[in-house]
Amino acid sequence: MRKKIIAGNWKMHKTATEALALATEIIQMANDELHNQAHLVLIPPFVHLHSLSKLTAASSRVALGAQNCHHETQGAFTGEVSAAMLAAVPVQYVIVGHSERREYFQETPAQIAQKIDLLLAHHLTPIFCCGESLAVREAGNAYGYVSSQVIDSLFHLSPEAMAQVVIAYEPIWAIGTGKTATSTQAQEMHWHIRQEIAKKYGESLALNLSILYGGSMKPDNAADLLACPDVDGGLVGGASLQSRDFINIAKAVH
Ligand code: PEP
Repeated sequence: MRKKIIAGNWKMHKTATEALALATEIIQMANDELHNQAHLVLIPPFVHLHSLSKLTAASSRVALGAQNCHHETQGAFTGEVSAAMLAAVPVQYVIVGHSERREYFQETPAQIAQKIDLLLAHHLTPIFCCGESLAVREAGNAYGYVSSQVIDSLFHLSPEAMAQVVIAYEPIWAIGTGKTATSTQAQEMHWHIRQEIAKKYGESLALNLSILYGGSMKPDNAADLLACPDVDGGLVGGASLQSRDFINIAKAVH
């Protein structure tokens, strides 16, 4: 059975006090109200990881994640954070290849592949993001584009390593725009990604991989998206900054 994951990417939001308050509320609400099989992941800015790890360590429902790591093991990379540092916090998940990092920080598919290798070496779960721009979708190339992203950064992995990865399909045109992919668009792309993985790694591995949807997921559209057979959860940006919205999205997992 595939793991159902609702991960909240807080991006560059929340001070230390606000982060503790939000995490405390989410953990409390998850304990009181969440009766399905959803696993929650809180993904705050790096500076809050240590304090939040004390809260998440006590919760069986809520794990901790980081938004990025550097692609080298260590060294003179001012301002960067390594996979080993994240493993020592400890966090359980790390986002890699988010479209904002690909666009604003010029991350390359090769660097993303290196990050994934380092994370897996430290027994951390990469949440590998892929997704096309509006121009690519309108040109009719969305499937080929996303296939290339998956192939370029993941297909060097052994089957054992690949089985540890979580994929997040995040159409760039739906991130932070309020414009969500329809459940049909999401299902078609998730199915396509799973088929791509099945061709390389076999049906059984592909069927066990969690593929999350990201892009303006909100309480009022989560049920439709999460009802799709190949959508195994969500990577949530804006709506993860409000405890009530985040928990209501998690409640839509079935
Ligand atoms: C994201 O950035 O991963 C994301 C899905 O953001 P939002 O939910 O705000 O569109």
